[in-house]
Order: sequence, then C-alpha cells, then structure tokens
Amino acid sequence: MPTNILVFCETEGGQLRKSAFELLGKATQLAAATGGKVSAVVFGDADAASLGAWGASTVYVASGPAFGTYVAGAWVKALQAAIASSGANVVLGSASGVTREAFPRLSARIGAGLSVECTDLRAEGGAIVGRRPVYAGKALVDVKIKSAVGLYTVRPNSFTIGAAPGGSASVVALDAGITDADLDVKVVETLKPATQAVDLTEADRIVSGGRSLKSKESFDAIVRPLAKAAHATPGASRAAVDAGYAPHGDQVGQTGKVVNPSLYIALGISGAIQHLAGMRTSRVIVAINKDAEAPIFQYATYGIVGDLFEIAPALEKELTKALA
Ligand SMILES: Cc1cc2nc3c(=O)[nH]c(=O)nc-3n(C[C@H](O)[C@H](O)[C@H](O)COP(=O)(O)OP(=O)(O)OC[C@H]3O[C@@H](n4cnc5c(N)ncnc54)[C@H](O)[C@@H]3O)c2cc1C
Repeated sequence: MPTNILVFCETEGGQLRKSAFELLGKATQLAAATGGKVSAVVFGDADAASLGAWGASTVYVASGPAFGTYVAGAWVKALQAAIASSGANVVLGSASGVTREAFPRLSARIGAGLSVECTDLRAEGGAIVGRRPVYAGKALVDVKIKSAVGLYTVRPNSFTIGAAPGGSASVVALDAGITDADLDVKVVETLKPATQAVDLTEADRIVSGGRSLKSKESFDAIVRPLAKAAHATPGASRAAVDAGYAPHGDQVGQTGKVVNPSLYIALGISGAIQHLAGMRTSRVIVAINKDAEAPIFQYATYGIVGDLFEIAPALEKELTKALA
C-alpha cells in the first residue's frame, strides 16, 4: 500500500521553520520508496505555495484568528481535517512545544498510533519505521505503527536539508469547521527570548556551560563569546541555571530542552544522566573538562582534558579567525 505522508509545517513570525524543510525532504524520500504522495499542512500566514518546490503536491492552509498563535482545540481539529482531506496514513511533525501537546490529543481523537522524538525514519516493506531514543538515550527503539494512521514527531536537525527538488503544489484552503467551542485557549501575550540566537531546540551548533563557570559574569565572558565565534546558540546545565548563570530557557536536559545539533560543545559539564538525556543524540560532542574521569568523556566525540578558562578563549580566538 502506498504511504501518503502529511507534513505539519510549523511557522514562526510568518516564516516556515527550518524543521519543515527537513521533514519534507525526508517525506519525499519515503514517499518515493513506497509509491505514495506528500502533502503539507500550514497554519496562519506563510508562503504555502513555496512548499511545492520542496516536494509537497498539495498544501492545506488554515488561516484566521485561531491560527495565528497556538490554540490546541482548533489546531487539533484542523490537523484532523487535513488528514481526512489528504488521505494521509502517515503524519510527520517536528518534536516541538506544539506537537508535544497537539499530537497526543490528535492520536486519542482519531485512534492513531504515535511515536514521539524520533531521530530517524525509514521505509521498510512499504511501511514507515521510526527510530527513537528511550531510557534517557541509553537505547534506541524502532517503532512500526499498525493503526490506519501513524503519527511521528521528529527531533529538529535529524535530517539535513538538501537542494529543493522543484515542483509546484496546489494550495487548498482548509475548512476545519472551527467554532467558539474549539477556541479553548486564549493567547494573551507572547514573550520573546532576550537573545537573538537560534532557538536551542533547532540550533545546529550549541556551546553549553556548567557549574564550573562559577559566576554569571564568567559565563557571559566565556560561554557566550565562544558561542558567538562558533555561530552557535548558548546553552547551560541545570547546575549553571540554578546558580543564576543563565536563564532557565537555556537549560539543556531532562527538565530543560532536548537538543539535537550537529555540534555540541560542553564546557565544564560533568555529564550527569539528566544532562545527557537532553543532548546525547548530538552528532559531534566536544567536551572540555579538567577531570579526565568525568562521565561526559564516555559520550564525547572529542575530549579535551584541561582548564576551560584557558581552552575556551583560545578556541574562541581560532574560531573567530576560521569562521569570520
Ligand atoms: C530530577 C532531576 C532533573 C534534572 N534535570 C537536569 C537537566 O535538565 N539538565 C541538567 O544539566 N541537569 C539536570 N539535573 C542535574 C544533574 O543531575 C546534574 O546535577 C547537573 O547536570 C550538573 O551540572 P554540571 O555538570 O554543570 O555540574 P557538576 O556536575 O558540578 O560538574 C562540573 C564539572 O566541571 C568540571 N570543571 C570544574 N572546573 C573546571 C575547569 N576550570 N575547567 C574544566 N572543567 C572544570 C568538573 O570536573 C565537573 O566535571 C537534574 C537532576 C535531577 C535530580
């Protein structure tokens, strides 16, 4: 049976998020392997037609007051309508704050299996298999969904964005029959993070600092400049956040953000299981720690044993030259 894939393309400030293109690229490969088609669904104002060049044959667009900022009831109903209209048997979304709430609701509503936080997807015997980390990343499990519709969320940066294959899409206005009863959440205010850096969950490079930074002043003087030089987003361990060196939004780990960058530089972070739970799927991990026995070295691609107060500024200097 062909696999018809619907990609939920999230937007921010009217722009399609990077994850939308990662998912469409993978969906196109999977649909080619199974003989299916790719559709997309977009909420709010964004350049929906441009998704045709990225492999979507139809783009369903829901707009209006319910689709500016996230309103759970309305968005789940609209996703359900998009699944029905597209005849999708597989739905892909980025592992995000929105899908963390919307996809379980959708799953319960339409009786669809759900596999969250996948880091890979593949076609096998005409079916889609999602690979996801379990037990705080200690093991990987392959999930094949047997229900008529399967929902998968995928961590940002799991797939690289290739060249757009080209093509055009028909853009269809989605009538999800939204009523006042679906407007179960009212967004009163949206607070933007103070930093202009790419959001941690989507960042391709991250430089994180730990308790070892000793103060907010030295966190700002060491971690942030190195992050800037590496064109990276700053992150922090919980110990650093609890000590007030960095805001909570920068925390990586089990009770912080789950990240999946190409490069993760850990400055003076021991590698506690709760920190690893948030970053161990990073493609390349560079650990700088003065304790050669620190657990982070078991997971690091490259390890530097030494004092971060000497190594980080030297690295910053070289990266500034190399990436200028
Ligand atoms: C329920 C629960 C949830 C948690 N959630 C999270 C979470 O989401 N994220 C998270 O990070 N933690 C979380 N934690 C806390 C976690 O267990 C660790 O306490 C925390 O990650 C430690 O942070 P750290 O590595 O910065 O500090 P430490 O463990 O104190 O490590 C500091 C490291 O810096 C090294 N160091 C010191 N000075 C230098 C120097 N000058 N140069 C180089 N290296 C140096 C030391 O050798 C050491 O390895 C959670 C804990 C619990 C119980």
